[in-house]
Amino acid sequence: MTTSRTPGVAAELRAVGLRVTAARVALLETVRVGDHLDVESIASGVRERVGHVSVQAVYEGLHALTAAGLVRRIEPAGSPARFEGRVGDNHHHVVCRSCGAVADVDCAVGHTPCLTASTDHGFAIDEAEVTYWGLCPACTATDDSTTNR
Ligand SMILES: [Zn+2]
Ligand SMILES: [Zn+2]
Repeated sequence: MTTSRTPGVAAELRAVGLRVTAARVALLETVRVGDHLDVESIASGVRERVGHVSVQAVYEGLHALTAAGLVRRIEPAGSPARFEGRVGDNHHHVVCRSCGAVADVDCAVGHTPCLTASTDHGFAIDEAEVTYWGLCPACTATDDSTTNR
């Protein structure tokens, strides 16, 4: 099964002060292997690994992992929250307006905040969250075929 990878993940959980459970290990592995998964997809990934886990437990686990900085939560407007294992590098996302596909976009600058605000209103700004919107290649192709004369 997944035992060969478990020691590393378990150690990472312990390092951030989280109790190590089979469900949390499965959760972190599922998020890392996946690509900006929503809660439903994560729940089914966890169940494939460790059997039944309640949606409530998945939410709680994701909350703990996010708070500990092992998982990043993104929430594009109008789309359910997604989770990813790529953390701490200030990358951005491009979201398809039509199907909701999400892809990573490396930060042009590489450190926060990557955009300088035109005015800071006296705030100590430490982050800019950038979401690019458009149509993914698949949706662009569909669009072309329906609009072609
Ligand atoms: Zn699309
Ligand atoms: Zn990402």
